[in-house]
Amino acid sequence: MSTRTLKRKIKRTKKKTAFELTAQHLKANGVVLWRGRSRFDGSPMVLIAVGLRDPTSNIKTPHTVTVYGLRSDISPRENILEGARSTCGHCPIKKECYVHSWTLAAIYKEFIAGKYPSLPLEMLPQVMRTQGPAHKLRLGGYANPSVVGWREFGRLIPNLGVDWLSYEHDWRGAPAAWKSVSMASTESIKGTLAADSRGWRAFQVVPVGQGPAVVKALRARGLQAVQCHFKKLPSDASELDKLRKLRNGVNCYNCPTPCNGFNSLSPNHHVVVEVHGNPTILPSRNERLRILNRENVNP
Ligand code: SF4
Repeated sequence: MSTRTLKRKIKRTKKKTAFELTAQHLKANGVVLWRGRSRFDGSPMVLIAVGLRDPTSNIKTPHTVTVYGLRSDISPRENILEGARSTCGHCPIKKECYVHSWTLAAIYKEFIAGKYPSLPLEMLPQVMRTQGPAHKLRLGGYANPSVVGWREFGRLIPNLGVDWLSYEHDWRGAPAAWKSVSMASTESIKGTLAADSRGWRAFQVVPVGQGPAVVKALRARGLQAVQCHFKKLPSDASELDKLRKLRNGVNCYNCPTPCNGFNSLSPNHHVVVEVHGNPTILPSRNERLRILNRENVNP
């Protein structure tokens, strides 16, 4: 290595280690992990990790810090009206996305107001530990994780020292290395078979009531598959039921087959999950999946 290259490397290392946490990092509920261009169409984007201070109320994903990818130049609403290509690529169910638009709007508002300080991804675990209850990282809360380059972001995830969950809709187009971090989000048996043949673990979303049949159909084709371990509560469940469920049930935090891609830490089962999420969009999402899953009816 030439002296010039060495000097440059030392300068870069110094620059990296020189980052210091501020009071704002330790108080903020979210941090900006990355700013750059979307892999899909080159639009300006940010990745924001949220849930550092205020834990999520979602009993399926307790103790998680979720990463959202947003356009930085226009609001999430405008992005959706433009077809959400920058964030979601060709996702076949993006029109019926499970994420509440008001969740995205609230995050964007805080971002524009400067409430989220920038933080290198490598330092996120330190902040997570300082802030308390958040112990797991969830990528793909909105936007495909691979919207960011593998080298700048994905390859760091397994070495952060925190457990993670990650979901990728553009698994056909994403750099193959992402399969060691993310699940391939699929919507049909055909999709799951294709993902499996490329070495991805699939996270197949199916219409309500079709979970057991799809697991059976995948196993009949020689694949290892389980149904998501989280059992939903009825919509009229009391706060006490939710608390009990949080304490005693299986969720994304204590799951035996965590959605963390295909790697030495995972039990490598494909996961089948019945459609869930935003109740206002659930019927149309279910119908869309029914169409995409038609082959599952008579597998
Ligand atoms: S399989 Fe486990 S980690 Fe994946 S969504 Fe279900 S509960 Fe969460």
